[in-house]
Amino acid sequence: MIADNIERIRQHIRAVALRCNRNPESVRLIAVSKTFPAADMKEAMSAGQRLFGENYIQEAERKYSELGQQVQLHFIGHLQSNKTEVAVKIFTMIETVDRMKLAAILDRALNRYGRTLDILVQVNIGNDENKSGIEPENAENLLKEISFLKNLRVRGLMTIPPFSEDPERSRVHFQALRHLAENLQEKGLFYDNAAIELSMGMSHDYRIAIEEGATLVRVGSAIFGNRG
Ligand SMILES: *Cc1c(COP(=O)(O)O)cnc(C)c1O
Repeated sequence: MIADNIERIRQHIRAVALRCNRNPESVRLIAVSKTFPAADMKEAMSAGQRLFGENYIQEAERKYSELGQQVQLHFIGHLQSNKTEVAVKIFTMIETVDRMKLAAILDRALNRYGRTLDILVQVNIGNDENKSGIEPENAENLLKEISFLKNLRVRGLMTIPPFSEDPERSRVHFQALRHLAENLQEKGLFYDNAAIELSMGMSHDYRIAIEEGATLVRVGSAIFGNRG
């Protein structure tokens, strides 16, 4: 089941990318495995999936100790400052940095391990009061401040738009995130301005996200089923 879902979604991603004249290789699938056991992740791995998204530090730590370095984990949840020590050990990317205080704590933790870490800045693109993320108008300042931290590499932006049953309603938010990213890119504020990441789109709206430029789509329930 899970392996079939992965195959089907991969093919769909490919088809959507080709239809809008994008290189299919430029869109990566993150299998969002939060609340699902490591056994389910192994099934996804049997279909070649290596990249997973996790929201909870302790849960991710448990699965990481079982699956080890065969998996690449992106953190996509709300990160508390007191969990950064573990986070920098098990994640290859933290997608949800949205405040300078958190960035500074991550940077210090990385210093102790002599490591660097790829991050995304999470933007509250729909100004949704229930969502985390920096306000779009403050993103430039945050990127400037983070650029002084030598262990963090801002690779791009991430967003979760306000939920709507109708995926078309996500489109304006995805467009807004891309325009913001292009603006910051012109100002040279990313670690690599020739290749920036846009993490946007989930099970119900990843098609729209790819049409609007997503390079990372975060798909959970369409792969693993509904969360209880
Ligand atoms: C849970 C989650 C997802 C996956 O959502 P689905 O609707 O199950 O695909 C994607 N992104 C974030 C940030 C999440 O927390």
